[in-house]
Amino acid sequence: MRQSQYFLPSLKENPTEAQIVSHRFMLRAGMIRQSASGIYSFLPLGLKVMQKIADIVRVEQNRTGAMEVVLPTLQPAELWQESGRYEDYGKEMLRIRDRHDRPLLYGPTAEELITDIVRNAVKSYRSLPLNLYQIHWKFRDELRPRFGVMRGREFLMKDGYGFDLTEAAARETYHRVFVSYLRILAEMGLRPIPMRAETGPIGGNLSHEFIILADTGESQVYCHKNYLSRLTPGAVDYQDAAAMAGLVADWTRDYAAADEAHKPAECGVAAADLIAARGIEVGHIFYFGTKYSAPMKAVVSNEQGHSVPLHMGSYGIGVSRLVAGIIEASHDENGIIWPVTVAPFAAHVINMKSGDALCDGLAGDMYQQLSAAGIDVLYDDRDERAGVKMAESDLIGIPLRIVIGPKSAAVAEVEISARAEPQKKISLSSAASVDFITKALATAKAISGKICRV
Ligand code: ATP
Ligand code: MG
Repeated sequence: MRQSQYFLPSLKENPTEAQIVSHRFMLRAGMIRQSASGIYSFLPLGLKVMQKIADIVRVEQNRTGAMEVVLPTLQPAELWQESGRYEDYGKEMLRIRDRHDRPLLYGPTAEELITDIVRNAVKSYRSLPLNLYQIHWKFRDELRPRFGVMRGREFLMKDGYGFDLTEAAARETYHRVFVSYLRILAEMGLRPIPMRAETGPIGGNLSHEFIILADTGESQVYCHKNYLSRLTPGAVDYQDAAAMAGLVADWTRDYAAADEAHKPAECGVAAADLIAARGIEVGHIFYFGTKYSAPMKAVVSNEQGHSVPLHMGSYGIGVSRLVAGIIEASHDENGIIWPVTVAPFAAHVINMKSGDALCDGLAGDMYQQLSAAGIDVLYDDRDERAGVKMAESDLIGIPLRIVIGPKSAAVAEVEISARAEPQKKISLSSAASVDFITKALATAKAISGKICRV
C-alpha cells in the first residue's frame, strides 16, 4: 500500500482527552476517531489490527470445535424478561422501542438469545456438545467510559456459548476454552494470568478472568511471579479431556487474585515471590450450569429419555479492548511496537527523498519485490520531510523498517531495522533483503513475544 494513497489521518500533537498511552497513540496514529462518548470509528489502520486479533481468536475457537454465528445486535426484551435479567441488568442496558412500541435492547451479551435458538433446535443429547460463538458489537452504557476503546460503550467482543448435557461435560468445554484463551493471548505476544473470578450478574459458580499486566490497568492484581515466565501450551489436542484438565490445573496452581479477594496473610506466597501490579481484563469465562436453561426451559432428552436442562457456559474476549491492551503492553515513548502477528503491516518501506530518481527507483523496487514475496508492505512514498516520516513510522509501529536514502541508494543498498531495536541497523542489497526480511518475520512469529528483531 502506498502511504500517499492510504487514509492515515495522523496527529502531531497529543490529544488532551487521552489519559493513557494506548488511547493517545491510537488517536495520533489515525487508528480510531471518537463519535460519541465511548463510541468509536475504526479507521483503516485500526481496523486492520482489530481484524488480525479477531482472526487469531476465530482460528483458535474453530480448532476447539466451536462454530461461528452472527446474532443480531438488537434483541427483543421478552427473552430477557424470561430469564429475569431485563430488570436486573440496570442502566448499562440500552433499551429501545420500535415504531410499534415493542421493547428492544442493544445486546450487552447474548445468553438469552442463543439459548432461545438452541432450545428450539436441539432436542436430544446426541446433538451435544455445542459451542457457538460470534465476534460482534456489544453495547453497555458504562457509567464511566474511558481510556478510548479500553472501556467503551460500543465494543467488539467474541462471545461464545457452550451447551452440554452434564456438568462434567460442561467443565470439559470450560477447560477447552480456557486453554484456547492461553494460546490466543500468547499468539498476540501477551502473557495472560488466569485469575479465579466472581461471577457477578452473569451468575454461576466457576469463572476465570484473563488478565494482562500493564501499569495503566484498571484492576489491582496480586500473583505469583511464576506467571511471568510460564510457557504457553504448544500444539494441543482439544479432544483430549485429561490433557485439557491437566493444563488448567497447572495454570491455576499458582496464586493469583484481584484486589477484593486478596488477603495478604492468607495467600501463602512469600513476599519476595508475590507481584503486585495493575492488570487489564481481556477475557472472562464462566460455567453457570442451568441458570438460563432452567427458567428458559432449554431442555434435551438424555440417554434414558428424561428431559433435563442444558448445562451452559459463556466465554468472552474483548477484541476491541485487546487492540489497546496490546499497545499498553508493547510500546516506547515514540509509539507502538506491534507484535508481528497483529501488526497492521509487516514492513514499512521509507523513501527518505521522494523525487530523487535513485531513491524512487530503489524504494519502488523494494516495495514491488516485498509485495511479490507476499509481505504486506506500507510504502512511504509521500513528499514529506525525512524527519516527519521517521517520527510517523515510530508512531505506527510496523515491525520492520526498510529505509532508502540518497547515500544507500547510491550503492544500491537498503537499511533494515526493527521497530523494537531502532539503534541496530543492517545494510543489504535489495535482492538479499527480501530473503532477510522474510526470515526475520518468520522467526518472530515462531517465538513467544512475537517482537521482530534483526
Ligand atoms: P469489566 O469488569 O472490565 O467491566 P466485564 O466483567 O463486565 O468487564 P464481561 O461481561 O466478562 O466483562 O465481557 C467479556 C470481555 O469483554 C471482558 O473481559 C473485556 O475484555 C470485554 N469488555 C467488557 N466490557 C467492555 C467495555 N466496556 N469496553 C471494551 N471491552 C469490554
Ligand atoms: Mg463490565
